Amino acid sequence: MNYKSPRGTHDVFGKTVLWLNLLEQKAKEIFIRHGFEEVRTPIFEEATLFTRSIGQTTDIVEKEMYIFEDRKKRKLALRPEGTASLARAFIEHRMDTLSPACKFFYLGEMFRYERPQAGRYRQFRQIGAEIYANSSPAADAEIIILAQEILFSLGIDKINIHINSLGCEKCRPLFRETLIKYFSFVKNLCKDCLRRLKKNPLRLFDCKVDSCKFTGVPEMLGYLCCDCKDNFYIVQLLLKKANCNFTVNGKLVRGLDYYTKTVFEVRSDAVGPQDTLVAGGRYDNLVKEIGGQNTPAVGFAIGVERALFAAQSVGFFDNLKNPEKFFLAITDQELFSEAFAFAVKATRYGINGNKDISVFGPINGKSLTNQLKFADKIQVSKTIIFAKAEFENGEVLIKNMKDKTQSKVELNKL
Ligand code: ATP
Ligand code: MG
Repeated sequence: MNYKSPRGTHDVFGKTVLWLNLLEQKAKEIFIRHGFEEVRTPIFEEATLFTRSIGQTTDIVEKEMYIFEDRKKRKLALRPEGTASLARAFIEHRMDTLSPACKFFYLGEMFRYERPQAGRYRQFRQIGAEIYANSSPAADAEIIILAQEILFSLGIDKINIHINSLGCEKCRPLFRETLIKYFSFVKNLCKDCLRRLKKNPLRLFDCKVDSCKFTGVPEMLGYLCCDCKDNFYIVQLLLKKANCNFTVNGKLVRGLDYYTKTVFEVRSDAVGPQDTLVAGGRYDNLVKEIGGQNTPAVGFAIGVERALFAAQSVGFFDNLKNPEKFFLAITDQELFSEAFAFAVKATRYGINGNKDISVFGPINGKSLTNQLKFADKIQVSKTIIFAKAEFENGEVLIKNMKDKTQSKVELNKL
């Protein structure tokens, strides 16, 4: 029986793991500079947390959730996204009292039963940020700029930021009615859209079926109330002031129902058909919806695999500095423990003061020739040879594996 990783999942190893770590480290540095604190939530939650918050008629809830029962018949779901989990944790731990700035970030695996294709997997990673208890349009602008900063820090600078406003409970109902009227005259809607039309007409904008891509559809921007209009205006003003380029896209909606007012996506030409790297927006009703106080909030999620691919295609990882690799070889078995002790010291304190190193060896029971062959195989730059005669004088040989030159140095000086 040969096992393979489940469909839509990936083993991450080799260079990709280094790149992934670097990407996440860059994001963390930027979050910290912006005053965001990390939160780690469980990988599974009560299923209803997601069905209630994300919305019944969304793709995620209708067809993409991994739901299972545990041994006590509790209905659980692997998290399909991070916002609902974070909101649950925010309420559960009264995080507003612990962390009054209410700025949080997370990184981690998400799970969606999707048809796997480039940039779309069943297990993928997101990096997300959320600001709670802040209804100011400045928070919307900060979130958009933060997403941009993270992409810039990865060399991804050819991006298009699309923004829109989805209005609030005051102005959206009229727009909803208008859309229902409009679409009831449109022919060729797909099966899903016909169903969505009754329950959640805004979802029609997000349909990926060609016949449902229309022109001349009414847009929310024409229906915004004064409050929402002002808010959207200030978001744009602040973005312009910060030299953040964006496009107002009246057809932008999100794949989740909890959004209100500002929504945005960051797209890049560098990643192929799944070109949305980041998606986010304001969700002023979510916290209340799942049992908390009335708490406005705004956030985003970056698709890590897509961002990684974009960073790779702009050559961001091309000149990564790798740690210098050393191999410890011995000419005599009796020097093994000396080399072993040196390896412990070197990994703790570095070699010649350099801690950015990787140390391999010593290994038992191989001729020097075979040890050196192995050192070449694992591509070390230098081999430190513990040789009997030299060691008695407190010295070792250092062999440069590229040009094969060799020199003697005092062991104490390394
Ligand atoms: P899409 O329209 O591409 O399905 P979505 O609306 O489902 O996106 P969100 O739930 O807002 O996306 O997720 C935010 C980001 O996470 C996306 O922009 C994307 O970069 C990434 N993402 C979403 N689903 C997947 C997936 N199945 N595999 C890889 N990345 C994903
Ligand atoms: Mg999706």
